[in-house]
Amino acid sequence: MTAFIDRVKQMDDIDPLARFRERFVQPPHFIYLDGNSLGKLPLATLDRMKTVIEEEWGHGLIRSWNEKWLQLNQTIANKIATITGARADEIMVGDSTSLNLFKLAYASLHFQDGRNEIMTDDLNFPSDHYVFQGLVEKHFPNHRIHVLKSKDGISLGSEQIKQAISDKTALLSLSHIAYKSGFKYDLYEINEIANMHGVLTLWDLSHSVGAVPVELNQSGADMAVGCTYKYLNGGPGSPAFLYVKKDLQERLSNPISSWFGHEAPFTFDTDFKEARGIDRFAISTPPVLALSALERGLDLILEAEMDNLQAKSVLQGDLLMQMILTKLVPLGFKVASPYVTHRRGSHISISHPKAYQINRAMIEPLKENTAAIIPDFRPPDLIRIGIAPLYNSFMDLYKAVERIREIVEKGEMDRDFEPQIVT
Ligand SMILES: *Cc1c(COP(=O)(O)O)cnc(C)c1O
Repeated sequence: MTAFIDRVKQMDDIDPLARFRERFVQPPHFIYLDGNSLGKLPLATLDRMKTVIEEEWGHGLIRSWNEKWLQLNQTIANKIATITGARADEIMVGDSTSLNLFKLAYASLHFQDGRNEIMTDDLNFPSDHYVFQGLVEKHFPNHRIHVLKSKDGISLGSEQIKQAISDKTALLSLSHIAYKSGFKYDLYEINEIANMHGVLTLWDLSHSVGAVPVELNQSGADMAVGCTYKYLNGGPGSPAFLYVKKDLQERLSNPISSWFGHEAPFTFDTDFKEARGIDRFAISTPPVLALSALERGLDLILEAEMDNLQAKSVLQGDLLMQMILTKLVPLGFKVASPYVTHRRGSHISISHPKAYQINRAMIEPLKENTAAIIPDFRPPDLIRIGIAPLYNSFMDLYKAVERIREIVEKGEMDRDFEPQIVT
């Protein structure tokens, strides 16, 4: 019988994406399982940044706008369109996820009469809730927010949405993959329910884009926003994107009128005329350095291909789940993610009363030759283990689980840690 660890090694040996691991900066003694929060730095991004800064900015200066930079948004939008199953003229790159969510939620509430409810769920990301709360409080006082409550804190059944949705619902806005539990909605099923009631859908793809196929067009999604510094490896705070289905674009208006959303920004006309199509959702001068960094991250995803990434993520998720059940559950951990593969994104959360300390002990090992392992902690008691199929090996997962086991068995988490802002 082959030992378990040998089977894990074998999985790496036959992994068609294994070669991508070396295309990222890899600190020594370090296993990174937080690609769902901030992706790693591609080596190609380092080269690209040197060129953009030294040549394009340093030497080209203002000339680079015409020669290079003004095309950048469209080039990147094309790439994100391929990754998300949208048309190139349905994606706008820029601003942040929260700001894009605000723009699209505002626009969709604004043009609808007689519908006064925003529907979301309590699995959604806090910033998304804040955006909706602010909209109702400051702009749409006659609207209300209907928060669907998950029964187990992990997932939410489509039955609950079916029962609650009505012709009063203006907008259904959910995270495709829940940031805590990794629960994944079926885009096709939920879009169909919403479409049947004439309800617009607005998806937050932050935890899915680059990890699982999204298929915006085919699934019938109306609108979406997403983040690029997670699985797309765009770098800290890299620009977000938004998607609006083609036939909806002319009906939605950007609540922030500004020059990059103008029909012809460089005529410097003092009267605002909203651009046609997806361009109307732009606001300001593109952040060239950040866009340049993002492009190399996208290139790697495109080269690896979404289907391969998905296939590997599924194998890795199943391996991790199996190890959690056999090695960590007996030590007092609970699984805080769906068991079923097709209901999960690319991270798995486990809970433990001492999750915070265990997380810190993983990141800060006492012995020098022990690898630091970086997952992340989400209050009150969750350790999130993110699988980025582009650069994580099967052995990373094996080592992480073994290390967690060692920490708990030896009580290594029972020590004092320096307080930190971000955990
Ligand atoms: C990461 C993330 C965001 C990020 O929002 P920013 O505006 O970029 O800070 C938003 N929504 C979800 C679901 C996320 O996971």
